[in-house]
Amino acid sequence: PSALSIRGLTKVYNNGFRALEHINLEVRQGDFFGLLGPNGAGKSTTLGIVSSLVNKSEGEVRIFGHDIATDLEQAKRYLGVVPQEFNFNMFEKVEDVLITQAGYYGIPANEARDAVEYYLKALGLWDKRREQSRMLSGGMKRRLMIARALVHDPMLLILDEPTAGVDIELRRSMWTFLTKVNDDGKTIILTTHYLEEAEALCRNIAIIDKGRILQNASKHELLGQL
Ligand code: ADP
Ligand code: ADP
Repeated sequence: PSALSIRGLTKVYNNGFRALEHINLEVRQGDFFGLLGPNGAGKSTTLGIVSSLVNKSEGEVRIFGHDIATDLEQAKRYLGVVPQEFNFNMFEKVEDVLITQAGYYGIPANEARDAVEYYLKALGLWDKRREQSRMLSGGMKRRLMIARALVHDPMLLILDEPTAGVDIELRRSMWTFLTKVNDDGKTIILTTHYLEEAEALCRNIAIIDKGRILQNASKHELLGQL
């Protein structure tokens, strides 16, 4: 099955605002997929529904074949999510943020150790592992969010504007890291409003605006049209 399959997805918020109108998207296993569009286009709403933080109004979402409406527990095992806002426990130590997360997936601390060490080192947070997470800089918190999303070894990583407000140097090192995660076999979907970010990272890109998919093609096809 596809890593992600979205059919006829519509979102009407409680105030009546129609944020998504019948979206279709298919993301193949192994892809690095970008959902590109301006602020307010519906990117976070889409990822919010996929990660079941937001309720959909209509349509179907499958993660590796598992329908999130009927088979959410299975679907969630495949998924690691990096939301835009920091939402970890600021008083927990950096390494404990990861160990707690692994625990949510039934992975005991002693079995999580290797993954915790690997991701903290890969993201330059190893020296900070005993610090409370509130002591980290903004860029470090963002990297901690990424490590947390990966600690249970999900097959699909989704990131909502992962480099928004991040300086150019950190942005480039995050690009390098994410490219390696994809090369190692994980499917990645990210939202961005930076064309250059989609261009640097993504193999396939969908352009969304006002809740509708305007284009959906390989990067090369899309850039050829610009
Ligand atoms: P749902 O339809 O998923 O139940 P709601 O319409 O109840 O969601 O809104 C969820 C939350 O988002 C509310 O706390 C609301 O205040 C907030 N919210 C409202 N309008 C906006 C907006 N334009 N952008 C972001 N958040 C909003
Ligand atoms: P993007 O991530 O592309 O910037 P969003 O998915 O956050 O876009 O928002 C899409 C549209 O839905 C925006 O117009 C936003 O104001 C609106 N919106 C988001 N959350 C809510 C909410 N809870 N209630 C009402 N409108 C919302």
